[in-house]
Amino acid sequence: MDLYYLPAHELHRLLVRREVSAVEICRAVFERIAAVEETVRSYLTLDRDGALARAAAVDRELRAGGELAPLAGIPFGIKDNICTRGLVTTCASKMLHNFVPPYDATVVERLNAQKAVLIGKTNMDEFAMGSSTEHSAYFATRNPWDPNRVPGGSSGGSAAAVAAGTAICALGSDTGGSIRQPAALCGVVGMKPTYGLVSRYGLVAFASSLDQIGPITRDFTDCALVLNAISGHDARDSTSAPGEAVDYTSFLVDDVRGLRIGLPREYLDSGLDEGVRQIVKEAAAVLEARGACLEEVTLPHTAYALPAYYLIAPAEASSNLARYDGVRYGYRMPDQDNVIDMTRATRRRGFGAEVKRRIMLGTYALSAGYYDAYYLKALRVRTLIRRDFEQAFEKFDLLLAPTTPEPAFPIGDKTEDPIKMYLSDVFTLAVNLAGLPAVSLPGGFLNGLPVGIQLIGKPFAEGTLLRAGYTFQQSTDHHRRRPPLGGGGVSR
Ligand code: GLN
Repeated sequence: MDLYYLPAHELHRLLVRREVSAVEICRAVFERIAAVEETVRSYLTLDRDGALARAAAVDRELRAGGELAPLAGIPFGIKDNICTRGLVTTCASKMLHNFVPPYDATVVERLNAQKAVLIGKTNMDEFAMGSSTEHSAYFATRNPWDPNRVPGGSSGGSAAAVAAGTAICALGSDTGGSIRQPAALCGVVGMKPTYGLVSRYGLVAFASSLDQIGPITRDFTDCALVLNAISGHDARDSTSAPGEAVDYTSFLVDDVRGLRIGLPREYLDSGLDEGVRQIVKEAAAVLEARGACLEEVTLPHTAYALPAYYLIAPAEASSNLARYDGVRYGYRMPDQDNVIDMTRATRRRGFGAEVKRRIMLGTYALSAGYYDAYYLKALRVRTLIRRDFEQAFEKFDLLLAPTTPEPAFPIGDKTEDPIKMYLSDVFTLAVNLAGLPAVSLPGGFLNGLPVGIQLIGKPFAEGTLLRAGYTFQQSTDHHRRRPPLGGGGVSR
């Protein structure tokens, strides 16, 4: 297979056997970018020279007989809301068009410590608000499986790059589904870890009680390797959970015997494509055949997750985004008479329509007189949703659900109707409200488009997700299929 289509763990094997160099891998990925990026458009910024220099350093270390970390020499795409020192970080917003962070996010530091090769910053919905990457202030990313369709969002650039062979692995962020939904629509693995497992130091905040960074990869071995690299306590993030480092690769066990898996009735009853429902049922059958016990379960407050999320997330966003005032950094509208006019004009010009909609919704929900009726009520609903999961997890180790109601939709299909767009995340939002870990994995195909299935776990049970996902992957081939995109490249 072409080098750019191999998972990181296979590239690592080739590297340590000296069958390929890190510079060759890096070149192969940049050749792939030259061939298909014009179609897919995953990247806002590429750092070819920096990447090749980092790859050359890995080769030098290898020649000197040094031992390579598992991700050394592996080309990575990083979502553009994660700070990279010296490399512009825009959040796909005009507001940050010129923002060059003076520091690396903790996750970037940790990848650098392994000598992973950062190759560029991936496109996203502006400030991570959206489900299609069409809300990027710069351009829309396209789905590698069908360029007339969206890659999902908001981490659409990251998911599309991993699927298209223009990154081997990527990082995304997930506030209500933004890792899992694009992973599902692009046919790759995307994990949202437990709230607190991965440091958000250096992640531009959207909704701080929901945001998490996580891996987007081609398979579960890579998912475990990236999680190993980025997880663990960080004193610079006050919400970072304490705890010993875990080796997630120890959970890559091809065996689910005895695992109790619940199928939430509310996720399969209505509002989803019949083909997607079928694929979830087939996935349940695969896991059952491998020895898991599957049973229906109820999460009675599911219907309230979406309305609660669209009060809580915008409320937090309206507060987080107050910092973009044209004074301290980012865009500033020139030629204004006074600071009030300047801030007003800056925000009017700097933010896109969806971001403004969220700020207005959130400001309204937090305003005097409406706070109790909207924000506080949404917080109460959030508690009920968390309790639904707690009850389900008294009986089950995992839950199995669809990731999205349908496969990738055509570009432009939902941009006129925000509610339709919001419904893309109807199966992923509740997990963020409850702070749980969940992963989307390739579950099958409908008319040539990938369909994701979602596994949801107890807090800090990423290992169980990896075990079940790995077993499913070893019993199926979906993760081995590659999109019918043109472009040749180095093969071996
Ligand atoms: N699509 C959801 C939203 O627009 C979730 C976004 C995210 O997870 N960042 O808010």
